[in-house]
Formats: sequence, C-alpha cells, structure tokens
Amino acid sequence: MPRPITSPLTDPVHTRAPYWKDVPDEQWMDWRWQMAHRLNSVEELGRIINLTESERRALTAKGLFRVDITPYFASLIDPDDPHCPVRKQVIPTDREMVPFESMMEDSLAEDKHSPVPGLVHRYPDRVLMLVTTQCASYCRYCTRSRIVGDPTQTFSRAEFDAQIDYIERTPQIRDVLLSGGDPMVLAPKLLDMILGRLRAIPHVEIIRIGSRVPVFLPMRITPEFCDMVDKYHPLWLNIHVNHPKEITPELAAATDRLSRAGVPLGNQSVLLAGINDSVAIQRKLVHDLVKIRVRPYYLYQCDLVEGAGHLRTTVSKGIEIIEGLRGHTSGYAVPTYVVDAPGGGGKIPVMPNYVISQAPGKVVLRNFEGFITTYSEPLDYDPYEIKAQEALIPARPEPGQEGVLALLEGERMSIEPSGFSETHARGGAEHRLRSGDIAQKWQPLGVGSIEVHKPRERLNTGKGNGHEEHGSEE
Ligand code: SF4
Repeated sequence: MPRPITSPLTDPVHTRAPYWKDVPDEQWMDWRWQMAHRLNSVEELGRIINLTESERRALTAKGLFRVDITPYFASLIDPDDPHCPVRKQVIPTDREMVPFESMMEDSLAEDKHSPVPGLVHRYPDRVLMLVTTQCASYCRYCTRSRIVGDPTQTFSRAEFDAQIDYIERTPQIRDVLLSGGDPMVLAPKLLDMILGRLRAIPHVEIIRIGSRVPVFLPMRITPEFCDMVDKYHPLWLNIHVNHPKEITPELAAATDRLSRAGVPLGNQSVLLAGINDSVAIQRKLVHDLVKIRVRPYYLYQCDLVEGAGHLRTTVSKGIEIIEGLRGHTSGYAVPTYVVDAPGGGGKIPVMPNYVISQAPGKVVLRNFEGFITTYSEPLDYDPYEIKAQEALIPARPEPGQEGVLALLEGERMSIEPSGFSETHARGGAEHRLRSGDIAQKWQPLGVGSIEVHKPRERLNTGKGNGHEEHGSEE
C-alpha cells in the first residue's frame, strides 16, 4: 500500500506555542511569515520563554553571534527548562563569551582554501559553494559564525559568477555542495538560477545542498520547491537535526515531500555537550531519522570556533557513542563520526578500534559484544589480477592530494612534513657522501617513476665485477 501523501501545508499543525495560537493556519504555515516574525531580542524571547539571567546577559551583550529563531522552532523550546536541548542550540548564554584554548575565528581554514570568494576547494573532486550568509535561525556553535548572519558579508552576483567560472574551468570537480549560511533561504528564483547553471556544467555529476531549513522552517518545503529541485537531479540534500525533539510531524511531512521528489536525504549532526552527548539520545535520534527516511550521515565533533567552547565534548565521548551504535542498531542508522581537522585538513573519521591484531594470513577482530574472532586471509590472493579491468576505468588524477593511497600504490615511499629535508641536512654542505650526483641512492626500487629494471641494468653494465654499487660516483 503506498503511503498517503502528506503536506506541511494542509496537515494538522502540531507545533505551535500558545503565544501564537491566534495566528491563522495559513499564515503560520507560510515560510515568509515565519521568516518575517523571527525572534531575536530579550523582549521578544521573554514573551515565550522564561529567560535565565545568563541568557539575558548574552542577549544584550554586544558582538555575540546573531540571534534569530523562527516562531515554529521557538515553539519546540521548553519555556521553563534552561537545559532544554532545543533551547541550548539557539539561545545564547554568557558562557559564549568565555575564550578557550585553540579557539579560532576560521577553525577549518576555509578562507585559506578558497580560490574565489565563497568557494572552498579542499578535496580533489568536490567543492563547497557558499551562496549566502543568511539562515532561517542561527546555531550557537556555527562553524562559519565569522561570516554567517552578517548581511554585509553575503555574496554578490559577480561572486556567484566567479564561483561558477572556477567550477567550469576545473574539470576535476564532479560534486558541488551548496551551503552558506543556508541556500534554502535564498530567493527561490536565485536558487533556481544557481542550480540551473551548475547543472549545465557537463563535468558536475551531482549537486548537494546542506540545509537546516527543513528543521527550522519545514513550511519552506512547498510543492513548488519540490518541483524546482526535481529539475536538477541527481540532487542530494543533507539536513541538520541534533536531537529527537526536532523531529516533528512538520519535519516528517517536509522530508516525505522531498523523498517523493526523488531527493536522497542525509543528516549531519554536531555532538554537543548537554544536548546530545548521550548514547541513549543518539540512538533515539538515528532511529527517528530513519523513520522519516533520512539516513544519518555524519556526526561532527564540535569545531574550535569562537563562542562554542561550552558546547564541546571530548573526542572519547564521540567514540563511546559510535561504540553504542555500531552493532547495536542497523548499519545504515550509524553515522560516521568525524573530526573536521583544525587548520583545514578536512574530515577525519574516528571510531572504536575493531582490529585486535594481525599476522600474515590472519586478522583478529572483535565485534560490538566483545566477541573476538579470526579471519583467515587467502594465501593465494593476487591483487594484480584486477589490473586489466581497472585500466578500463578512466583515471581521475588528484594532483598533490594522492595522500596515503600513493604510499600503498607505490607512487611514493614517504610523506614528509615541510622542511623535513632541510632540517635533517643540519646545514651541512655537499660532501662526498651527499653529492647531488648520487641522489639516486635514495630512490627506492620500484617506487614511483623509478622502474624496477633500471638499477639491475646498471649493475650489469658496469665494470664487470658486479660490485659497482660500492664504487665511486657513476
Ligand atoms: S544553519 Fe548552519 S550555517 Fe546557519 S547558523 Fe546553523 S550551523 Fe551555521
């Protein structure tokens, strides 16, 4: 039996604080009305929430990250509980003003990895395209709080042109992720234009959108929006839910519409102290997400960003959460826990260690219950048998980013920190043992461009006694 079609526009409204009880349904479910009636001052928030002194101080402080909360999302807040997990995500406290070790303005060095304003090109085959600095509501731990929320920092048409021009002339880019800010608060025509221009680039295989709009403003997912995105497939969407309380009938209806429009949905959440740093809460979150056809994708360690110090957990808490999910629930409900490398190294997956030991022909593994087993490896496995088939797949070069894979594939022998050779030369001048002429003695046989046969040939073409490798410079 097909599931009934649900609509955020026509279904009964479940989520509304008493303060808005007299607002006509038609207005309440209009995303533009929600955007126009966002709450941001002590006076407005004080009408629906019993604010603490700490919250009042933060809301009146100068220079803190912007506050704006849609009436819909504010309705999820427990007005009397300062520990409400929804409240802590969007209402500041004075703990935001406390600096902490390693705090940074741009902790992921995104601006350093931007060839043009708003386009972050960190990984070989994909880019992050920031299209706006505006959001429907603002999260207290936002990684991009250096620009997000500030309308003067937003991107111009000329900057969109420069971003798209870079993508057009960089054929290695097969995946473009639209983010911001939140791309889904852009004027519908502008988002349509950006998606259309990206789809027209032949080497852009997929487009992704990262958005918290379905969570802050589910009424934005209108039939017209779904019809618009349906033109640009394959288009993927990651939403951002941190706590099961955010999964409402309105969000479920919005994700249902998106799924029916053919948009695969994932969820990114951030591990946040006092909000979702619990195995029980994370298990409920991932179970509730898969019920609305959203696959848990990433669980992020909170970044070292200004204002977010009090929301950070240890990394060990994240490992404990994955320990409590993997094996304990369906594999597709387990997100990848990642630390986004401070300084701009990208996402680094972190998980419990399931490999206990190894020897040639044997791997000893443990499962989630602590059951320890042995996998016997084939002794006649030939990793080269596949090479002819592999050669049929066009190569995708990753200039400068071959990484550890290049070590495994024999492209290079080592990866050195910058300045390694100079440090180890200890300022010594060229001398008999270090002459440039014999640099070849440090070239490993069979690695990279040095072909295996060459040194052997050299042995055989010397002075005939086979001991030339101990002789003088050749
Ligand atoms: S929705 Fe995303 S970009 Fe906007 S404030 Fe929250 S984390 Fe930052």
